Amino acid sequence: MQIRITNSLTRQKEPLRTLVPGKLSLYVCGVTVYDFSHVGHARVYIVFDVVQRTARRMGLDVTYVRNFTDVDDKIIARANQNGETTDALTTRMIAAFHEDMDRLDCERPQVEPRVTTHMPEIVAMIEQIIARGHGYVVPGEVQADGSIAQDVYFDVRTFPPYGALSGRSQDDNADGASERVQHDARKHSQADFALWKSAKPGEPFWNSPWGNGRPGWHIECSAMACKHLGETFDVHCGGKDLVFPHHENEIAQARAANGQEFARQWMHNGFVTIDSEKMSKSLGNFFTIRDVLARFHPQVLRYFLLTAHYTHPLNFSDRSLEEAQKRVLAIYEKLAAAEALLTARGMASGGQMDEPELELVENARGELQDALCDDFNTPRALAALSEPIAALSLALDKPKAAGALDVIAQVRAFLHEASGWLGLFQHPPTTVVEAIVAQARDRLFPPGSEALANVERLLVERQEARAAKDWKRADEARDALTQVGAEVRDGPQGTTWRPRLTDEA
Ligand SMILES: [Zn+2]
Repeated sequence: MQIRITNSLTRQKEPLRTLVPGKLSLYVCGVTVYDFSHVGHARVYIVFDVVQRTARRMGLDVTYVRNFTDVDDKIIARANQNGETTDALTTRMIAAFHEDMDRLDCERPQVEPRVTTHMPEIVAMIEQIIARGHGYVVPGEVQADGSIAQDVYFDVRTFPPYGALSGRSQDDNADGASERVQHDARKHSQADFALWKSAKPGEPFWNSPWGNGRPGWHIECSAMACKHLGETFDVHCGGKDLVFPHHENEIAQARAANGQEFARQWMHNGFVTIDSEKMSKSLGNFFTIRDVLARFHPQVLRYFLLTAHYTHPLNFSDRSLEEAQKRVLAIYEKLAAAEALLTARGMASGGQMDEPELELVENARGELQDALCDDFNTPRALAALSEPIAALSLALDKPKAAGALDVIAQVRAFLHEASGWLGLFQHPPTTVVEAIVAQARDRLFPPGSEALANVERLLVERQEARAAKDWKRADEARDALTQVGAEVRDGPQGTTWRPRLTDEA
């Protein structure tokens, strides 16, 4: 089966093309490490994690590269504000990013290059751009010793294909740029962008043919992609906000430097929105991944972010997270029940079934694979799990019915297989269920709240009524608990309660 993708360059769905048969080279723009990552970042890296998982499972040998921008204006400003070095800040933020990605089950890329360790490659690419007539040097900042360091700009007018990815004309860019950026008389065209910036006092800098300075933002990705994947590689990915100017500039730089094609296909994911506005740090309407994971399980956030097709926007709200939680909890509870039942029957591994594969499992597997190969249609892939889960549910209700154990074992094995594609449902089920319930309890019945005090009062009342064999009063207390969203469970270890989180009793 052929994987199909939406190529931003052609604006069409088309087959994924690999330069070398059986191998896929993938570059995804990474984060600027000055702060914790937000839910918009989580979506980008979960989306492209599913892309690389799918490609691998379809037999491709994937080289996945994702960079860290570890020198930049925002990093310098934040480090100064914190009174720490940029190194200390970026090291801490890279560790935090890895922690977030691990919790969200995003597999690590093979290469995670950092700007600060790729200065020779960046300088060499800028030199090539200048040598081929696409870059020019102008006087920049005065240095401590009185010398004047130089800035280097990309000359957009020397590169006619500029604008092909974003669909903008060069005049649009010049106009757009003049609104945002102060007119700079040193530039040939206002659409020109910095390849190298001379050092300002107090900034980290590197030595270069143009004096002390640091790279502009865009050049790093051109240089690091070419170094780790070659001058021409398969797919370049990122959030939609990077199409212009970042990706447009990446193409211009790499092609101007070496005359090769650069990325052959491009993929971009849609925004996470809040009230239809893009979630971003600059708009101040963002939630960090940490904020969300303090309240919802990572599997819930991952599931939610896969409920929309990656090219579409996705609206973020507590309500949609609660919906995702309901689904994730219900599936993990069934997996927990399946595991308990199969363990009790000595069939824990589920591997000793001689029965032929169930048709519904075979169909669901085909549908899951079709959905993901069809431009990574995750909503369709998640829907493909519905029928097997419904069958599992029925079998768990009547485990003594003919064939029930077979259904339980086969659906459980199928969900385990699906987890490899989606990064969902692979964790020990009881642990996930307990974690989701504990978080939901803290969220809905916070410690010290009136809501919690009320539940505790009703539980005592029910206990007392039962002790007095006053069944009517006990039932009334139970109904009152249900009314406030608390579900009471009587077990051998006594009575427990939890928030009512699923539609099923
Ligand atoms: Zn980039």
